[in-house]
Amino acid sequence: PYEYPLSRAAFARATKVIPSGIYGHQGPSEGCYIPQASFPLFSSRAEGTRFWDVDGNEYIDYMCGYGPNVLGYGDDEVHAAARTQAELEDVVSIPSTIMVDLAELLVETVASADWAFFAKNGGDTTTLAIMTARAATRRKKIVFVKGYYHGVAPWSQKLDYPGVLEEDVANNLTIPFNDIEALRRTLEQHAGQIAGLIAQPYMHGNFVDNALPAEGYWQAVRRLCDEHGVVLIVDDVRAGFRLDLAGSDHYYGFSADLICFCKALANGYNVSALCGRDFLKDAVSSITYTGSYWMSAVPFAAAIATITKLHRIDAPAQFARLGTRLTTGLITAARNEAFTLVSSGEPALFYLRLADDDSLMLHQEWVAECVQRGVFITSHHNHFINAALTETDVDMTIDIASQAFSIVRKRHPLWS
Ligand code: PMP
Repeated sequence: PYEYPLSRAAFARATKVIPSGIYGHQGPSEGCYIPQASFPLFSSRAEGTRFWDVDGNEYIDYMCGYGPNVLGYGDDEVHAAARTQAELEDVVSIPSTIMVDLAELLVETVASADWAFFAKNGGDTTTLAIMTARAATRRKKIVFVKGYYHGVAPWSQKLDYPGVLEEDVANNLTIPFNDIEALRRTLEQHAGQIAGLIAQPYMHGNFVDNALPAEGYWQAVRRLCDEHGVVLIVDDVRAGFRLDLAGSDHYYGFSADLICFCKALANGYNVSALCGRDFLKDAVSSITYTGSYWMSAVPFAAAIATITKLHRIDAPAQFARLGTRLTTGLITAARNEAFTLVSSGEPALFYLRLADDDSLMLHQEWVAECVQRGVFITSHHNHFINAALTETDVDMTIDIASQAFSIVRKRHPLWS
């Protein structure tokens, strides 16, 4: 198994000068949920579907930078487009027309997009979506779906989180996913006060099996939002462009009023986009919203190259096929060692859980054994497929996962 002396030495340096060493979900206490000793902490190089940590260990990566790696790290076409643009200009006093080119491409590609507004992170777009819904309706309340994650702005955090005020979340209402009656009741109870409903296209939360929309669910949500004048916001930051290039709302057969994109938009270059319907264009235009780097041209060039290539290779079909091949193989590998592995969510963003252990420790043990043998997965968070992944990589992954199951089985011979 791999060892990580250089990663751990780097982390020791980091803790002295960076709050928590590595903050957020990439940090050892948040991201991997398993002991630091079993997990690399710093990478040094990435190419295609793989990265190498600072100790020189190689991984087939199923986290894809938590989403942005959609074509493969260092994709030649995206890099070439970015380099060409970088030689011309990047951040300038006025924007480049490449911003317009990308907006036109998104309007052409995304079914519910009549316009596009660019920013940097997913959270920039979810915050703008909430502000737009409030500006358009002059109402305050927002409906959330249980298990949501929309970024880290105070409005999207929980009351008991440090630094969050009661006022920040006072207008948040939460309903369970796939529960139309709960939505109907909430809309009636707060009639005339709800500005918007924000939801991921399916429930891809952490620590729980991911859940797909029930038949007719989204169509019923759409109807209820229309009846109550509520802006329907789809947070496609994570799933966007992995299920359907026309948007995950299109994939599930409905149309959002606002849709948030980020992760897969530019293969790792920094750009996000809020797209929406014509009737909200004046409202979004009225909002004070911008940032130092939001019109930088290089990421726009990268995004155009990314979307163009995703389209040409029909990447969503490839993700579904390889995701299914992988999860089916992993489930069989588990069964061969008398474990039950549950895969949930969409195959392009599969979520894994070992069903034999409510404490979750067995799952973490298996994940650690995979990671230490070169398959980078994580526990209690969905995974991601990228277009550089091959069937050979998938089969190699299943082999390594089988070894990991057999090691865990030897350690726990009586577990059932
Ligand atoms: N919404 C969803 C569904 C996400 O997965 C994320 C990022 N994990 C965000 C919003 C926030 O995006 P960012 O971290 O780029 O601000």
